[in-house]
Amino acid sequence: MALTHNLGFPRIGRDRELKKAQEAYWKGDLDEAGLRAVGRELRATHWQVQKDAGIALLPVGDFAWYDQVLTHSLTFGVIPERFHAHGTKPTLDTLFGMARGVTQDSCCGGAHAQEMTKWFDTNYHYLVPEFTADQQFALSWEQLFEEVEEGQALGHNLKPVLIGPLTYLWLGKEKGSDFNRLDLLERLLPVYGEILQRLAAQGIEWVQIDEPILALDLPQDWKNAFERAYNLLQKEPGKKLIATYFAGLEDNLGLAAGLPVDGLHIDLVRAPEQFPTILDRLPAYKVLSLGVVNGRNVWRTDLEQALNVLQQAQERLGERLWVAPSCSLLHSPVDLTREDQLDAELKSWLAFAVQKCREVAVLAQALREPEAAEVQAALAESRAIQASRAASPRIHKPAVQARLAAISAQDSQRQSPFAQRIELQRARLKLPPFPTTTIGSFPQTPAIRLARQAFKAGKISAAEYTEAMHSEIRHAVSVQEQLGLDVLVHGEAERNDMVEYFAEQIDGYAFTRFGWVQSYGSRCVKPAVIYGDLSRPQPMTVDWISYAQSCTDKVMKGMLTGPVTMLMWSFPRDDIPREQQARQLALAIRDEVVDLEAAGIKVIQIDEAAFREGLPLRKAQWQAYLDWATESFRLTASGVRDETQIHTHMCYSEFNDVIESIAAMDADVITIETSRSDMELLEAFERFDYPNEIGPGVYDIHSPRVPGSAEMARLMKKAAQRVPAERLWVNPDCGLKTRGWPETEAALVNMVAAAKQLRSEL
Ligand code: GLN
Ligand code: ZN
Repeated sequence: MALTHNLGFPRIGRDRELKKAQEAYWKGDLDEAGLRAVGRELRATHWQVQKDAGIALLPVGDFAWYDQVLTHSLTFGVIPERFHAHGTKPTLDTLFGMARGVTQDSCCGGAHAQEMTKWFDTNYHYLVPEFTADQQFALSWEQLFEEVEEGQALGHNLKPVLIGPLTYLWLGKEKGSDFNRLDLLERLLPVYGEILQRLAAQGIEWVQIDEPILALDLPQDWKNAFERAYNLLQKEPGKKLIATYFAGLEDNLGLAAGLPVDGLHIDLVRAPEQFPTILDRLPAYKVLSLGVVNGRNVWRTDLEQALNVLQQAQERLGERLWVAPSCSLLHSPVDLTREDQLDAELKSWLAFAVQKCREVAVLAQALREPEAAEVQAALAESRAIQASRAASPRIHKPAVQARLAAISAQDSQRQSPFAQRIELQRARLKLPPFPTTTIGSFPQTPAIRLARQAFKAGKISAAEYTEAMHSEIRHAVSVQEQLGLDVLVHGEAERNDMVEYFAEQIDGYAFTRFGWVQSYGSRCVKPAVIYGDLSRPQPMTVDWISYAQSCTDKVMKGMLTGPVTMLMWSFPRDDIPREQQARQLALAIRDEVVDLEAAGIKVIQIDEAAFREGLPLRKAQWQAYLDWATESFRLTASGVRDETQIHTHMCYSEFNDVIESIAAMDADVITIETSRSDMELLEAFERFDYPNEIGPGVYDIHSPRVPGSAEMARLMKKAAQRVPAERLWVNPDCGLKTRGWPETEAALVNMVAAAKQLRSEL
């Protein structure tokens, strides 16, 4: 009979209890015992919820005080020296220090936090382990064993979850002298041995070892290391399930299937084509866990379709088949029953973590007792839901589809090539060399947030709200005029978030109240849900931008979020491909671009902050993604005349892989984050001979530090060595919404001074 298990449950709590407790602890409003009590309660609740849903084998080790990779670093004693100041035995404060940095105190100097980066292709961020050439590993943190004991005391059947040694090393970075972190494997493995022995002594039967890098394009030496590592770990006690997810095993299928362990988990949601091939490759002694419930999205599973696959697998595997979500449910919201403001139909289409556990359990029951009334009812309900989605007029809108079908190649093509456009734009905009601008947002002050909340709560009228925002715009405009900036922005005071603001005005988007997902540490995001064909019923920004333009004779830049970013930071539909959703968004935003132009706006920025993170994990799939992502942007931008200048903005620093597509987007101006890389990343633009204009950020907006004008001028001069000066803009790295006004003004004064200095030296 197929065993049900879960790869991990969200740790934040259905009311984000963990976030609240963490933040209270950091503020000093909650002591350590209080924080630990909240963690214990959450774990107990989550185990019980999963068990009640029908999950037989419950994950332990999926809870983390900040991040599961960080927990592993503490467990293995991978604690950089700068955090040893308070003694080498790590405490909870060591953990938080590594995550958040340590400010100087009476005893010790400060220490900067560990670097943070995205967990594969998710929006979850982990803390990057730092390895030194002489790195030692020693079991240094008891959390996992304590939590096993805690769960056992509650009577649960537990499966500890570990990040595997290869994935752990892969996720880290070498610090200091030149060496290869893969060479640390032999030193790391004994700690895994020790952990497995300790767990066996606690009576644990199965351990889940996550090796998601098996779904990546791996260098040969990493592939080889897998066999070495698991041959050694084979000798350690306990049954081992290797878990892979987020993509298919492809060329690593034979490797993964053949590892000397007791089971393999694969993600059939992301890579359904792995089935049934896997059945022929799996040794006869092994358990196969099939991830058939999507751990990355909010849609209910098509149970019949999943069951069909599982039945085939059961015929071949019998007892050796396990059923699970595709990946850890860390990436889905917690509990749909909390949603009290979604309409009944839409709600009936959704499943969050708790509901997904239930789906796993029903599927396993269906294998066991297909005729059971409960099973039949669940299948009938699933069938009805699939049918209602497939036929719903809320989802399928002929007008949107007709427009999509009518797109021609010309629609994604500006009227003339850049060389001609830029002449027209220069003549019209009359900007000085090294024009200055900002990325869009100005400080989101408490007053702005209060006004927005009051308006949403009905406490102030629309007119009062509009006037409050207008006054923010007037303030932003007058500051920018006084500073002497060349291309102004309205400041984005009316926007809570660069995606949600637009999603709220686009038909086909829905919003949850409690659909939070952990992003990093105590930070959670609540992505909007794309449920239907997308369209823009009316202008979204034209009034605000026109008002801002009316306050100044200078050029006012319109500010929009691009289609790829809108898609990437939402929960997408699962019934049509992502690229179709991107095209629908492109058409909706294109309408806005055209309306802004008609309203007299001469420069329009279309932000694509998430363009690069959409890259698939497997290189073979990159080009297809880049093609539709680029085309979506062009479709958005190409409805305007040549003399209207299109900007885009991307806030990250890795362009090498995608420079060709960035160029193909053909924005007249691109602003990027560069200050922290000392302009090095312009190398990609130089090598590619990137033809259009570029604004390489001259200061880091993540820090309150105000750099001097000499420093910014120096950076621009470096930039001018790579990109001709006449194509350079001067701007910060990103939007200023998280900064305060005083530091913002101080930095911009220096930035404008730097630009003036550069001009005088031309
Ligand atoms: N226009 C946005 C802002 O300034 C861009 C934010 C971003 O790229 N993340 O806030
Ligand atoms: Zn940015």
